[in-house]
Amino acid sequence: MARERILTGESMPEDSDPTFTSLRPRSLEEYIGQQDVVRPLRIALEAARQRGEPLEHVLLHGPPGLGKTTLAHIIRHYLGAEVIATSGPALTRPGDLMGLLTNLKPGDVFFIDEIHRLAPAVEEYLYPAMEDFIVDFVVDKGANARMLNFKLHRFTLVGATTMAGLLSAPLRDRFGLVYRMNYYSPAELHAVVMRSARLLGIAVGEDAAWEIARRARGTPRVANRLLRRVRDYAQVEAAGVITREVADAALRLEGIDEMGLDALDRALLRTIIDVYQGGPVGIEAMAATLNESQSTLVEVVEPYLLQIGFLARTPGGRKATLAAYQHLHVPATPPGDQRALEM
Ligand code: ADP
Repeated sequence: MARERILTGESMPEDSDPTFTSLRPRSLEEYIGQQDVVRPLRIALEAARQRGEPLEHVLLHGPPGLGKTTLAHIIRHYLGAEVIATSGPALTRPGDLMGLLTNLKPGDVFFIDEIHRLAPAVEEYLYPAMEDFIVDFVVDKGANARMLNFKLHRFTLVGATTMAGLLSAPLRDRFGLVYRMNYYSPAELHAVVMRSARLLGIAVGEDAAWEIARRARGTPRVANRLLRRVRDYAQVEAAGVITREVADAALRLEGIDEMGLDALDRALLRTIIDVYQGGPVGIEAMAATLNESQSTLVEVVEPYLLQIGFLARTPGGRKATLAAYQHLHVPATPPGDQRALEM
């Protein structure tokens, strides 16, 4: 099995360490960046509070590790409510969903992570719950079968998804507030690293924090994880002092280069370049060559490579860009291919 990736935005077991979860910002004021989400959300929250009404249902979409779960908790703190958290794959039968819905108290936040992975049979029960705050039960069988409505308390559904495109239209349409989360800028990640270091009592210089921020792939979860690896390295190798050089050495030891790429990123690019002459290549072929699942490549590896312009998606498949060739120090030659490489 492939080695666990330190750079993945997806949650890893070590992330549930209590000191780490305590890093979650608890208010919008503490929440760094994402102003395109924070500003309208603040207004919606305040308006709902002034009217004494629950917040409309909220859909948060974007790559893993950008702060969607954190926002769901911020919303419930703001509303003074409780959060009941579950995930799409955990709700295998309609009964699982019913149990949670019928136990919600007025104003509760019902958080469904990976909502795009809800089974269709479960999803259908969510529609009347979201729209009219009722669930339908079928009681008895055959000729005696009757439909009963069960009235729910008004709640706010917060759905999170990495794949908004996979959400069915009827589900998406039932969210009043839809926010797209974007990758964080290096400056925002620098602020995340400095904040986490302060909370964890780690002495990190400004320039060491930049080394971490630049390599954190636009993702706060990754920034926090890299900070801990750097702290461990500094403790063992550098008397606990985190300088820029120490941060750099620690991250290189993890196989992370100066652009924040790790071995799998580089392997993906090298596969396109060496095996498929720069592309285009289909995702199935790439997954088979790399012995990785398609979903890992699509959801975890590719978004960042696309974002930094190392990968281009074309109707014929994926291509490595000129920037990728340069980064890997591969001469981008085949004559006549130059235009394709630059797209
Ligand atoms: P997601 O649900 O999108 O996968 P999380 O909400 O679990 O991401 O966030 C991952 C971690 O990143 C959190 O534990 C938190 O410490 C940190 N984090 C996320 N967003 C921010 C932010 N805006 N400011 C500071 N830290 C953040």
